[in-house]
Amino acid sequence: MRVLKTKKAKRTGKPSAAQVWAEVEDRFVPTFEPWPSERVVYLRLLRQTRLAGRETIRVSLQAFSEALRISVSTLRKAYQRLESKGAIQIHERGYTGHLIRVFLPSEIRGIGRGESLRLRQDVEAINFYARTNLRELIYAREKHRCFYCGRKLKKTCRGMDHVVPRSGGGDESYRNVVACCLECNSMKGERPAARFLKILGSFSVLTRKQLRQRLAALKALRHGKLKPSFGALRGLRVAA
Ligand SMILES: [Zn+2]
Repeated sequence: MRVLKTKKAKRTGKPSAAQVWAEVEDRFVPTFEPWPSERVVYLRLLRQTRLAGRETIRVSLQAFSEALRISVSTLRKAYQRLESKGAIQIHERGYTGHLIRVFLPSEIRGIGRGESLRLRQDVEAINFYARTNLRELIYAREKHRCFYCGRKLKKTCRGMDHVVPRSGGGDESYRNVVACCLECNSMKGERPAARFLKILGSFSVLTRKQLRQRLAALKALRHGKLKPSFGALRGLRVAA
């Protein structure tokens, strides 16, 4: 079990609230994509247990749901989901309440040993083209459709394209690689992406509206607004 180490933590045996908050935001949320209600419940449980220097709490469903201003059924569902993620463990369920053990984000198994956080921090420097598993994040970002023509991509018939070709100085960052179908990949060649989209428009592969949307997506991509979601890393083994 890794315990957060700060001067305050050593002195009082309690982890720093700021660090726990950051771990929830930077590790728990991107890894598990919890519902808002789960976040509310988890944060309150952390505050009343670990940040208060203890590991468990006994609380009734009714009282806790009233304190959080959520319904009992929402609270019950949040417990189930948090328990399935390993964020809490319910030891007893009874009329007097639930006895709940609460884990810090750093103590939850499967949170990726910081991989997700590290990748998020280094996102600008990542080569999404060379790493097979990271390509999946690009496919997921494109919702498994060709970035250019929009057709649905099959696993056996898909590729990655450099928006600005390597010969033109394009890199392999998330700002310059997109998922595409094999036809678009070969037809585009060394053409600038915007010109290629306009060709698709002139051949009615894209409607005028679709063309406008694709050009806007291209602009968003270049401006770094289409970061892949690292939530999709869950269940993926990231090759070194
Ligand atoms: Zn295509």
